[in-house]
Amino acid sequence: MLPPALEGFFPANALSGTDGLVVIPVIGRDILVARGSRELTVDREQADVMKFFCQQRLVLGQWNGVDCEVWDLAPECRSMDGFSVMDLRSLLLSTTDDQFSLVSRAVQMLEWQKTHRYCGACGQPTESATTDHALKCLACDISVYPRISPCVIVVVRDGERCLLGRQVTWPEGRFSALAGFLEAGESAEQALHREVFEEAGVQISNLRYVGSQAWPFPGQLMLGFLADADTTEINVDGLEIAEAHWWHYKELPAILPPLSTMSGRLIARFVEEVTGT
Ligand SMILES: [Zn+2]
Repeated sequence: MLPPALEGFFPANALSGTDGLVVIPVIGRDILVARGSRELTVDREQADVMKFFCQQRLVLGQWNGVDCEVWDLAPECRSMDGFSVMDLRSLLLSTTDDQFSLVSRAVQMLEWQKTHRYCGACGQPTESATTDHALKCLACDISVYPRISPCVIVVVRDGERCLLGRQVTWPEGRFSALAGFLEAGESAEQALHREVFEEAGVQISNLRYVGSQAWPFPGQLMLGFLADADTTEINVDGLEIAEAHWWHYKELPAILPPLSTMSGRLIARFVEEVTGT
């Protein structure tokens, strides 16, 4: 039996011959979902209807013990009878964590295959490796793996207040935890100190790892932390962050990220820490 934390998914690069097959039908970065169904996969019978429009198929592994593939469908399938097209962001709000994780994996794997058809060193076509999810250049003996970009995200705490910022591209009133990509050679801790200092001018300590979340927009891994503030004067950079403020836990901004996101979870964790719940 699989560890429960794997949420029903186990990766593999070849079919294992289970009874049946489930397919995640993907068009671009969107998912084709059977109307009235809560499942984001279709069975072999439903998939047969789509076969003609399938441009590429890729084995992902097993989903709840059944072989699972992602199919890259032609745009014509957008108007297929009995199905609707949903984008990943809408699914983030409307589906379960395990299904969201599965479809984001499907979209990212497909996109990675499409964007790594040729070797970056010699320009020869790459081939799927036989042993794992990798693409190989036989000429250079180079393997490339799905690209995942680690990011840190943090809610900084000052007593009963927390630091939340608004990105320059966001509407008025929308605030979230501060976040940023790791630089090459940097530790997650260094990235946290740097990002919070760059974006808000605040110095932090007592970093507490909370958890991580795969974030397929387009391929980040969000590493979530809480931290304490060593300084409280705010100096926003004005480039990424338009404004940042200290917010009392009882008077948080009107528009906050949902609990299905790491930032939403961090803010909830901050409130739990302050209130002792
Ligand atoms: Zn090469």
